[in-house]
Amino acid sequence: DSVFANVVQAPEDPILGVTVAYNKDTSPNKLNLGVGAYRTEEGKPLVLNVVRRAEQILVNDQARVKEYLPIVGLAEFNKLSAKLILGADSPAIAESRVTTVQGLSGTGSLRVGAEFLARHYHQRTIYIPLPTWGNHPKIFTIAGLSVKTYRYYDPATRGLDFQGLLEDLGAAPSGAIVLLHACAHNPTGVDPTLEQWEQIRQLMRSKALLPFFDSAYQGFASGSLDIDAQPVRLFVADGGECLVAQSYAKNMGLYGERVGALSIVCKKADVSSRVESQLKLVIRPMYSNPPLHGASIVATVLKDRDLYNEWTVELKAMADRIITMRQKLFDALTARGTPGDWSHIIKQIGMFTFTGLNSEQVAFMTKEYHIYMTSDGRISMAGLSSKTVPHLADAIHAAVT
Ligand code: PLP
Repeated sequence: DSVFANVVQAPEDPILGVTVAYNKDTSPNKLNLGVGAYRTEEGKPLVLNVVRRAEQILVNDQARVKEYLPIVGLAEFNKLSAKLILGADSPAIAESRVTTVQGLSGTGSLRVGAEFLARHYHQRTIYIPLPTWGNHPKIFTIAGLSVKTYRYYDPATRGLDFQGLLEDLGAAPSGAIVLLHACAHNPTGVDPTLEQWEQIRQLMRSKALLPFFDSAYQGFASGSLDIDAQPVRLFVADGGECLVAQSYAKNMGLYGERVGALSIVCKKADVSSRVESQLKLVIRPMYSNPPLHGASIVATVLKDRDLYNEWTVELKAMADRIITMRQKLFDALTARGTPGDWSHIIKQIGMFTFTGLNSEQVAFMTKEYHIYMTSDGRISMAGLSSKTVPHLADAIHAAVT
C-alpha cells in the first residue's frame, strides 16, 4: 500500500475551483465569471500590445542572459515599482526610507511581508476586512499571524459600513496590523471615499495601527494609476510607516508571470536598510530568488516614456470596458423589470460586482444557465461581454423571481 494512503482528498480552492467546474461543463453557453482575469469583448485572454513590444525588445537584446537575480529581485524593477505606487516625487523614496523587494506577484509579496512581520513586529494580530479576498486569511495565518476581521461591507446598503469599520479599528489593540485594499476592493467593489480614507488614516495613526496595503488593481478602478494610488500616498505623506504589496497580474495582464513587489516604508533610511537585510533572510529559504522574465517586462515598460504611455492607454481601455459592462448589465436588468435595486452594479468599482445573490441563487444560475461564479455572488465584470450580458441578465432575473 502507498505510504500516502491516509492522505484525504482536499476541497477545491473556492475561487480557482470555479474554473475547474467550468472546464468540465460542455454547454456552448457556459460563462465563467469566477476568476478575476480580464477578457476581451470576444471573451479571450488579453496580452497587452505594450507587453508584446517589451518582450520583443528583450528577445532582441543579445546581451541578455539567464543568470539568477539577486535575492531581492531586479533592482531597476524594484525602484520603478516603488515609484509607481508612491509617486515619482515621493519624499519617502528621495529620503531612501523605502525598501522594495520583488515578489511572486501579489500573493508572494503579501506572504513575504506577513513572514517579516511575524518575525520582527511586536504585534501579531492583523485585521482584515469582512469580507475580503479568500486567500488573505490563509496567507496571514500560515505566516504565524493571528487574523481578526473588521466590518467593511453593509449588505443592507450594498456599500461601505463606515461606522462599523471605524468602531472595529477603534477597538483594535494598539499597534495591530490592518490589511487595506488600496483600491477596487475584492470581492465587494466598494471603496472608501478619499475623505473617508483620511478619517481612517487619522484613526489608525492615533492608535499606531500599522497599514499593510494590498494593491492588486492599481489603474483598474478609475483607469488612472495615480488616482488609484491616492489612498496609499495619503498614508505615506504623513511620514509614518506602512507596507505595500503590489501585483502586475491585472494591470499589466502578467498573471502567469508572477510579478509583483513588496515595499516597506520606514521612518528612517538606516531602519529601511536593516529591514531589507531581514527580508533577504525571509526570501532565501522560501524560493531563493524571484523569476526574471516578468520583472524585465515591467521594468522595460516603466522606464520608457513611450511604452509607459501606451500602457496607460491600454490599461484605461480595460477599465473602461469593465465600466461599460456594468452599465449594460444594469440596463439589461432594468429592461427586464427584474425586482430589486440593482444600482450597486454601476456604483461598485473595479473588476467585481458583489451582486447580493445568495448561494442558492448562484447554484441555480450554474445549474440552469451554466454561469459560474463564487458562491458569495461575486461576478467578474471583466469576464462579461456585450454578447453575454443578456444571458447573465436572464439568469439573474430567473434566480430572483
Ligand atoms: N489581492 C487581491 C485583493 C486579489 O484580488 C488578488 C488576486 O485576485 C491578489 C491579491 C493576488 O493576485 P496575484 O498573486 O495573482 O498577483
